[in-house]
Amino acid sequence: MNDQPPKLGTVPSKEQVGRAMRGFMTDFGPTAALAMESCVHCGRCAEACQFYVQTSDPRYTPIHKIQPFRQAYNREAGPFAFIYRLFGFAPSVTATELEGWQDLIYDSCNMCGRCSLICPMGIDIADLIEQARHGMFEAGLAPSDYLGTLAEKEHATGSPFGLTVPQFQQALHDIGRQHGVVMHVDEAKADIVPTISSIDLKTYPGSMAAIAKILNHMGASWTFRTDGFDADNVSLTAGDRVGQAAITRGIVDAAIACRATTLLMPECGHSFTEMRWEAANVYGKDLPFRVMQITELLAEGLADGRIRVNKVTQSATYHDACQVSRRGGATAAPRASLQALGVDLHEMEDSGDSNWCCGGGGGVALINRAKSLRAKAFEIKQHQIEATGAPTVYTSCSGCRQTLDHGGKATAWTKSVGSLLELVADNLAVDNPTAAKPKD
Ligand code: SF4
Ligand code: SF4
Repeated sequence: MNDQPPKLGTVPSKEQVGRAMRGFMTDFGPTAALAMESCVHCGRCAEACQFYVQTSDPRYTPIHKIQPFRQAYNREAGPFAFIYRLFGFAPSVTATELEGWQDLIYDSCNMCGRCSLICPMGIDIADLIEQARHGMFEAGLAPSDYLGTLAEKEHATGSPFGLTVPQFQQALHDIGRQHGVVMHVDEAKADIVPTISSIDLKTYPGSMAAIAKILNHMGASWTFRTDGFDADNVSLTAGDRVGQAAITRGIVDAAIACRATTLLMPECGHSFTEMRWEAANVYGKDLPFRVMQITELLAEGLADGRIRVNKVTQSATYHDACQVSRRGGATAAPRASLQALGVDLHEMEDSGDSNWCCGGGGGVALINRAKSLRAKAFEIKQHQIEATGAPTVYTSCSGCRQTLDHGGKATAWTKSVGSLLELVADNLAVDNPTAAKPKD
């Protein structure tokens, strides 16, 4: 991948401010300045943000998180910057201040969009924070431990863990054998192209087998593509706009290469919103295929009979991933699947589009120093899950699943955390007669 980003921690202090300001200028500054002018200071966004609610720290008020960046833009790059400097309306920004602001836009923001949903003025603070991260990344100020490091690797190799094509091929082969499921790889023509999340490959490989099992059961024409498979897009959460676009473009091109009609996003939140809302911008025109999150395919297949399941006897609650439900629009689909399975669903307070983040979204799970903040945010979710009385919580995002798993271990939790995708795959009815049969 070309256009290498600045190496973390290597940009001299005197260059950092200029680089950051150029990044803010690109799209954040004017929009943020306008948003700040529209703010009526009602405070509703504060009550929507888990980091403020759990700490009562006024720095974590959503609108405050972009305030320093707005001031910096006004002074350094905005159309009236000269006046701001002349009359001292805003002090000059220092590299030390920029470093201090990492806490505001990385460590204490899940980009969950709860504040954006509640704002009566329609200010999309989550989007502004995403844009502010671009400037920080340009200045080499993405958190080096460890989100920024992963983004650097993704930028250089196309995978946050540096996974090569032969390694991916081998992993697919191994998962297929281990789970007794046919893996279709690099077929020249296929209707459905599923992508993966690196978290699944590393931690939950069973979910990749589950996708294959379900697509085979449906008798679908499908293939993994080794020229565009990893949809994680750590670059998005780190703020690397070039890397983000390259990952997206690679997946779009891979789907087009095999004339796919459906690009299937895995149980991963940010990869879904990137493909659903941003990919057409990267491609430059309408995508020649539809983008579906796996829960949407499950609901569609269960409704039209292409997926048939045995009923289960269990009660459970469902954790909405912010990017799948509120930001992605797939709120009803997982519930339709749970209903088709016969799950006795105990909804949490604030479920669906009003859900609280698990605490790890927006790359926060990948920032080691944010551990205690993350744990505080997780407490809300933990209490809400416990209040349902259900023994199991299902979700459709492996990032959330991992955060819930880690949070549960840290608090000696007795709840079990599961994947909705795997629940469907584990309870498929007799094989669809048109489905492919596993080979040795
Ligand atoms: S909810 Fe909107 S208008 Fe109210 S304080 Fe927050 S950003 Fe401003
Ligand atoms: S996007 Fe979520 S975490 Fe970030 S400021 Fe808004 S409510 Fe808080």
